[in-house]
Amino acid sequence: RAKASGKAQFARYSDELRSHADHRLRLESALGLALRNGEFELHYQPICHIDGVPRVVGVEALLRWHSDSGLVPPTEFIPILEESGLIVPVGEWVLRESCRQTRAWQLTGHEPLYCSVNLSSRQLHQPEFARCLASILEETGLPPTSLILEITESLLMQDTADTLMSLREIAALGVRLALDDFGTGYCSLGYLTRFPLHILKVDRSFIDGAPSNPELGTISRAIIGLGTNLGLQVIAEGVEDTPHLDFLRTEGCSYAQGFWFSRPRPAKELQGLLDGNERPHGGNLNGETPCK
Ligand code: C2E
Ligand code: MG
Ligand code: MG
Ligand code: MG
Repeated sequence: RAKASGKAQFARYSDELRSHADHRLRLESALGLALRNGEFELHYQPICHIDGVPRVVGVEALLRWHSDSGLVPPTEFIPILEESGLIVPVGEWVLRESCRQTRAWQLTGHEPLYCSVNLSSRQLHQPEFARCLASILEETGLPPTSLILEITESLLMQDTADTLMSLREIAALGVRLALDDFGTGYCSLGYLTRFPLHILKVDRSFIDGAPSNPELGTISRAIIGLGTNLGLQVIAEGVEDTPHLDFLRTEGCSYAQGFWFSRPRPAKELQGLLDGNERPHGGNLNGETPCK
């Protein structure tokens, strides 16, 4: 009896595995066509300077996929793009499109605006990545200093001569590098000085707990201090309410990003916020004029 039920359980388990694998295969083949079918879109989330009245200084480009069966979250499809290698052409499209859009904003009165783009290690390790990047900048007219590439701790952990060289080539173009989701990976702290980094993005898990949880507050404070003292610009992710903002101001963190300012949105829907005609989504403003 026990044996029979064990068998049934195994059969159910392998059915689940199979349907999981089927699902994945379907996603992967749909993703293979998505670029050509124009199913990708970029949303942009403002990054704000928060000393005083919040002001938009940049935007982070975030990839969206409108598949046949609806909008698929990046956490579901980005890993498939990465494992299949499709992230290389898709990532190149993301770079070109975000540089083009940012340059268009710059030319319509938002000159200092910068754009921050997530970069996968597969892209970085493409031969000639820096050359491809340089030609996208030239083609779109975006100054290199208006572009930031966001990399993760796991990319730095593949601590090879290649990684260091590729990052140096990018930095040599004048493009800045940000370490994303800092504090969630297994990066050794020495890497903060070993690689040519300019910006530290504090993961939202720390920011979220900082005002209410003393331990998370201590960790956030330490990360802000560490980044600042190393001469890095520190950006807090995941600012959703005024206690988060108050905490960051108290701790001397000058830049922030999060739903409090704005959710990521299509370029067109960001115009009002960039022009200063609109208040941030869901914000309790306490009389402040935000984001301009
Ligand atoms: P990320 O680079 O850390 O991007 C920030 C994520 O946090 C975004 O999720 C954004 O919508 C979300 N977020 C922003 N503010 C808040 C907030 O106040 N509260 C909460 N709860 N969340 C907030 P999204 O757009 O779903 O992207 C998830 C991840 O997918 C990104 O994390 C990034 O790692 C990856 N990703 C997105 N676009 C690209 C891309 O073009 N290329 C690559 N390689 N990865 C990308
Ligand atoms: Mg990012
Ligand atoms: Mg992040
Ligand atoms: Mg994140």
